[in-house]
Amino acid sequence: MADPDQTAPALKPSTVAVHAGRPPREVDQPFNEPVTFASTYVAGGDLEYGRYANPTWTAFETALGELEGGRCLAFASGLAAVSVLLDLVGHEALVVAPSTAYQGTLGQLADLEMRGRVRTKLVEMHDTEAAVAACDDAALVWIETPSNPNLDVADLDPIVEAAHEAGAYVVVDNTFATPLLQTPLAQGADVVLHSATKYLAGHSDVVMGALVTRDDELFTILKQRRDLLGAIPGPMETWLALRGLRTLHLRVERSQANAAELARRLEGHPAVSLVRYPGFGGMVSIELAAGALAADLLPRKTRLWVHATSLGGVESSMERRRRWKAESPTVDESLVRLSVGIEDVEDLWADVSSALDDLT
Ligand SMILES: *Cc1c(COP(=O)(O)O)cnc(C)c1O
Repeated sequence: MADPDQTAPALKPSTVAVHAGRPPREVDQPFNEPVTFASTYVAGGDLEYGRYANPTWTAFETALGELEGGRCLAFASGLAAVSVLLDLVGHEALVVAPSTAYQGTLGQLADLEMRGRVRTKLVEMHDTEAAVAACDDAALVWIETPSNPNLDVADLDPIVEAAHEAGAYVVVDNTFATPLLQTPLAQGADVVLHSATKYLAGHSDVVMGALVTRDDELFTILKQRRDLLGAIPGPMETWLALRGLRTLHLRVERSQANAAELARRLEGHPAVSLVRYPGFGGMVSIELAAGALAADLLPRKTRLWVHATSLGGVESSMERRRRWKAESPTVDESLVRLSVGIEDVEDLWADVSSALDDLT
């Protein structure tokens, strides 16, 4: 942050989201770090080349690093960050991962396993006993909580403890919760992963990822992998993501309030057989009594809610997850994932409830 006062009490996350990663507060300095379009820098300094460093990345990384409580690296996408992490483990090492999680993460793991690069063990991470038992012999334990799209919540403390006893790294995909609702590094996780595409950027206009770690040695390894693989974001995308991050707390607060209210009302709708809502965050998944066909129809009947994949934008959107061939068979055929935005909750309810009425 600009001019940190070491004696001041720690700032609250919403203040950090607004202020962290600003240029120095000096006469004629801009409020915001500009977009630096540069492939190279005049020699003799630390930046050197555009694949190694960019001042716009640094501003974003400072802000997200402060929010998560570690050192951050920006990546080209969430999945670029996933691939750098999976690259950490040795040949044929054991990766323990959730049986239901973001399909791209599970897809990368399945691909690595098929090629003999790693071994994988899939468990239900919200089944703490099973998760803890699976950690034995692991090199990497992957947790996503709440999970995509079933919104199951893992109990981090005992799993982190068991993983560390086995000498494994613990990665937590914190995309759904955001650092405002959960800070896994403070609970002992080694790395936090974000698809910044979602809540952090928040306006459905950027694809970007990030990793955050407290461990300097791990940070150096991950930075080296990013340098070598070139999995870097564009400066414009990074600037947009930081612009989005400035209002993260307001967006999360509003979409969470909307989501909690909609989850409560959806419980009472006859077309809905199950509401999955972990009690926090802006994501709600529902399963429909009338099955897959009804779930395919629902997003086509809404006028306000957009039928689209992805999540975490200011606009509410929804989709039936199993319309994707790659989605895990552990996800119900009738599951519709709702990304609740920041609109007026009454407008959202009127739209989704009348679409649901049409299905009964
Ligand atoms: C979207 C998503 C990813 C992948 O991120 P991209 O930015 O799309 O590459 C990873 N994890 C979760 C939980 C996601 O929702």
